[in-house]
Amino acid sequence: MTVFFCAKCGAELTPDLVELPAVPEASDDDRDRDKKTFLAPSTVPRGHYAVDPEPWGAPFVPPTGEPRPHHPRRLLMPPDMTDWISAGPRNTVVVHPDDVPDLRLRAQGHPHHGCCGPHGTGGRNMACGCGVLVATLVADCMGPYELHLDSVRVYAFEQ
Ligand SMILES: [Zn+2]
Ligand SMILES: [Zn+2]
Repeated sequence: MTVFFCAKCGAELTPDLVELPAVPEASDDDRDRDKKTFLAPSTVPRGHYAVDPEPWGAPFVPPTGEPRPHHPRRLLMPPDMTDWISAGPRNTVVVHPDDVPDLRLRAQGHPHHGCCGPHGTGGRNMACGCGVLVATLVADCMGPYELHLDSVRVYAFEQ
């Protein structure tokens, strides 16, 4: 079991979470049609976390022309950054957004905000109570639904 804390102020950000062996594959088929939010199911279920070994999130770099594998959890990119590739940090910690209730969304506006939630393409957008941006939320009706804890600004304590 692991609890995550803000590296700046020491605030406890999550309850005890169980590590998954890998980031689950997200499906586009299970979007919320009942409440019509069309939000995808959270990539990681409540009570769990997974470490993403791939570079994730901002900054992005232009495509090199090399073919690359389809990424099932691809972010919806701003129009002038279509096909750009993440040069973001590896080993971000993916959690269920509801497991990190005290963070506050710092609005980034167009083009990093979709019609109903952030695309996660503008860098860290979730602030701890101390003001440090510690995580990136992706939560629009298009793209995945997940929260990535920054591996530098958040630390893990294993119990
Ligand atoms: Zn803090
Ligand atoms: Zn939307």
